[in-house]
Amino acid sequence: MYRQNAFDREGTFLKGSLHCHSTRSDGQDAPEDVIRTYYEHGYQFMALTDHNIFSRMTRTDHPITMLSGIERDMTILGFRKDRPLCVHIVGIGDPAAPEGPAHDEVIPNYGSYEDCSSAQGMIDEMHSWGLKTFYCHPEWSGTTYEDYRCLKGNFGVEVWNTGNVIENGLDTGTAHCWDQALDEGRRVWGVAVDDGHSMKVHCHGWVMVKAENSAPEILKALEEGSFYASCGPEIYDFCFRDGRAYVDCSDAVSVSFHTLRMPLRKTAGEHVTHAECDVYDGIHYVRAVVTDAQGRCAWTNPIFLR
Ligand SMILES: [Zn+2]
Ligand SMILES: [Zn+2]
Repeated sequence: MYRQNAFDREGTFLKGSLHCHSTRSDGQDAPEDVIRTYYEHGYQFMALTDHNIFSRMTRTDHPITMLSGIERDMTILGFRKDRPLCVHIVGIGDPAAPEGPAHDEVIPNYGSYEDCSSAQGMIDEMHSWGLKTFYCHPEWSGTTYEDYRCLKGNFGVEVWNTGNVIENGLDTGTAHCWDQALDEGRRVWGVAVDDGHSMKVHCHGWVMVKAENSAPEILKALEEGSFYASCGPEIYDFCFRDGRAYVDCSDAVSVSFHTLRMPLRKTAGEHVTHAECDVYDGIHYVRAVVTDAQGRCAWTNPIFLR
């Protein structure tokens, strides 16, 4: 029987935070307080991704796996010079890796440019440091798909950003850039993050990565897409078999299936824990969104159909 699974790797699901801030840049709370907060909320790994300052902590007061991290940005002069488009990129890595900046090293701002393709230099530099990168808050940044598509090598794009959801009502899971990228066959994964600069923003959006608990294994699983993004619901299985997609999840009120250019069947009810959907010939990827009774979502990564 022909079956494709979203989660093929060995290991259990680990809860992780990929984007948050502390007093090392413009966050309100000390790094140790931010780390303790995530630990107390059941996270197994996290990265401190302060603006323009590199973090590569390996030890903390709590048993939580630390990734190295940084958020960098560059400005593109937009349709008005006082309304620039900002490309923000988070890079995460293995703090024990030999390459890359030192802990607390300040990285100068990348500068202002005429167009989005100039951001590739910033992204390539982060890759030369051994980091995996993802594109931050595309809606908050005012990103069109034309802007986004010229950037290469990002393993992910934010589908949920708690800070921008609270402050702007943006990056709420609509994922406009993501579906267009997937429709072009680009292997890019959806991440949920907090981007918290204060305690009320931390611990509302995360990734669940199926991996052994070490920085190299977590990073490998992230790059392979062996994870899902969530603000609450759990996804136990997502697979495609003989023309149908299947989801098993925690108690939900709906499971919807998505691909660009084709409406697919949603399952709704009081206690949905399993959903199935016909996936027609010609569709080349499918992903699913689980919504619980509190309105919180979880997003699978796509399965590309062979
Ligand atoms: Zn940002
Ligand atoms: Zn940020």
